[in-house]
Amino acid sequence: PKPVLAVVGRPNVGKSTLVNRLLGRREAVVQDVPGVTRDRIAYEALWNGREFTVLDTGGWEPDAKGLQGAVAAQAERAMEAADAVLLVVDARVGATATEEAVARVLRRSKRPVLVAANKVDDQRMASEVHSLWSLGLGEPMPISALHGTGSGDLLDAVLEAF
Ligand code: GDP
Ligand code: MG
Repeated sequence: PKPVLAVVGRPNVGKSTLVNRLLGRREAVVQDVPGVTRDRIAYEALWNGREFTVLDTGGWEPDAKGLQGAVAAQAERAMEAADAVLLVVDARVGATATEEAVARVLRRSKRPVLVAANKVDDQRMASEVHSLWSLGLGEPMPISALHGTGSGDLLDAVLEAF
């Protein structure tokens, strides 16, 4: 079976935008309204000749109430369903209490976990990216899902993690 990558993170950090990048086509639902991804969450992806499945777990997002617990539960489900987990963080916002709660869950994971520092649209955000080491999940990888920068390096790291 193909390996599965689950993409987790708070609403609006750019999970669906990133999933579209990883797929190289516009499919995952992207909107400014948090929690809008409700339909299909599994997508077939191909990188360097290897096929894998990407889960956009935005479809598991409930309403804003109880966000912290909900995103932590999302991470629990992702760990069960996936061979590797990608935590997406909005580097402009940094690690909130929600990211810290999710990181606590993910640090217990037997699966490999990668951290994407998203919305790094220009190169002047090195310190914001660096601060995400505090999550204890290894090296944060700077990306701009909007512009596509960093997504190739991220995909290389994903394939290595499987
Ligand atoms: P999700 O709720 O985590 O799935 O987030 P979405 O992918 O729906 O994106 C939420 C908002 O963030 C949208 O307005 C996106 O256009 C925006 N966004 C996503 N990635 C980037 C990025 O790299 N840079 C910037 N500036 N905005 C982004
Ligand atoms: Mg989404």
